[in-house]
Amino acid sequence: MIIVGGGVSGLRLALAGLERGEDVTLVEGRADLGGLTSTQALEVGDETVRVDRFYHVIMESDTTVRALLDDLGLADRVLWTSAPAELIADGTPYPASSIVQMAMLPALELADRARIGASLAASLALPLSLADRTTSASWLRRTAGASAYKNFWGPILRAKLGTQADRVSASFIVSTFRRLIQARLKGEGDRFGVLPGGYEPVFAAMRERFVAQGGRLLTGSPVTTVEREPGPGHPVRVSLADGTTLESDEVFLTTPGPVTTRIVPQLTARERSQLTSQPYLGVVCGVFLLDTPPNDSYITYLVDDVGLTGVIGMHALLPPERTGGGYLVYLPHYCASDDPWFGEDDDVLADRLVVAMRRCFPGYSGRVLAGAVNKAPYVVPLPLPRAEPPLPYETSIPGVRVVSTAQNRTGTLNVEGSLKMADAALTTLGGQDH
Ligand SMILES: Cc1cc2nc3c(=O)[nH]c(=O)nc-3n(C[C@H](O)[C@H](O)[C@H](O)COP(=O)(O)OP(=O)(O)OC[C@H]3O[C@@H](n4cnc5c(N)ncnc54)[C@H](O)[C@@H]3O)c2cc1C
Repeated sequence: MIIVGGGVSGLRLALAGLERGEDVTLVEGRADLGGLTSTQALEVGDETVRVDRFYHVIMESDTTVRALLDDLGLADRVLWTSAPAELIADGTPYPASSIVQMAMLPALELADRARIGASLAASLALPLSLADRTTSASWLRRTAGASAYKNFWGPILRAKLGTQADRVSASFIVSTFRRLIQARLKGEGDRFGVLPGGYEPVFAAMRERFVAQGGRLLTGSPVTTVEREPGPGHPVRVSLADGTTLESDEVFLTTPGPVTTRIVPQLTARERSQLTSQPYLGVVCGVFLLDTPPNDSYITYLVDDVGLTGVIGMHALLPPERTGGGYLVYLPHYCASDDPWFGEDDDVLADRLVVAMRRCFPGYSGRVLAGAVNKAPYVVPLPLPRAEPPLPYETSIPGVRVVSTAQNRTGTLNVEGSLKMADAALTTLGGQDH
């Protein structure tokens, strides 16, 4: 079995393949494993601090992630904390840890507050088939009014989807609300878990297990083509950028939709469309260690459009003693996958992100101790109205399976969902116990 892509999904498939008794080769294009969960080093003074390139928290309801950490002997390392959220409008901060707190914002008139409640109730009652015909923005403007949209729903949507917030289908918010309400009803806690050092220990443990069990790992080896020669008995051939070819009867691709369509030329026109018709949401994300925190919140929603999707204060969950004395803050700019920001210099972007943060916190005079900018043009497909159904795991090419972010139709990407998708795709292999 060959797995293309060494992120969470690829590693999950690779370890499960070994457990089934298969020969497994995992091929990753980058030098390191981890994909969107990979980590990097930041230097603070003479200390090296490892952080996720993109911020990650674990929810108490992430049972598959927690079982994996348990299995790898890492569950004890997770720090579990509750942290407040804040909303900033016109430079003024307001508490925003719950929908109720947010609905009490002074910027909202009494009538707006009532309409927010009504729009929430209407959204919960809206059948998904109808929600799929309109955008979240027009549905919420209609049910809550322009002023409540501007001061309340707009910032919440932007905190999730950045510049693309206006485009997503209303089914995105309907399913998000339902998940939140169900979690409340089930009594799931509101604590967030973080791993000091980011996901690095998880990948180190998975890698060690993979190699110890006989798996073959190729990193720094981008795959250029995956093809099956016509006719019975021919294996699938995987070609690498250095000219090497590998062969197997079963190949799993975990690469984003646009990459998969590029490297698998034999996919049908319909399959290509299923992988790419929903445009991907991208992110340019600054990660900074600061000498003082801008506030005490884990999430800061921004009503004013300053070019930032929000401010993610990981320091509220991971104390500075665990990050070289610096306060860990992420400044994400979610955007379209072809946004001009992707072509810009990292130093220019870092400055722009920090300037934008300072505009949100006018009195803030903290210093950046260390930082970096990471770019991911393909995070997750935008759930647009009237979406095409996702590509099934089994493609029309015998032995070629696709399990990737391209099949996500919720617009919410998390490790829990990625692991569950990989597990579901494995059941299509059938035959043996696993
Ligand atoms: C800003 C941000 C915040 C997030 N926050 C959270 C959070 O708080 N909690 C949470 O649970 N999840 C979060 N996530 C989501 C989480 O990171 C993903 O669910 C998970 O990483 C997806 O893993 P994957 O393996 O499916 O995809 P990827 O990580 O994209 O893996 C695909 C792999 O394929 C490789 N690849 C690409 N092209 C080739 C090629 N040609 N040849 C070989 N290899 C190739 C890539 O390098 C990559 O390693 C966040 C993601 C982002 C971007």
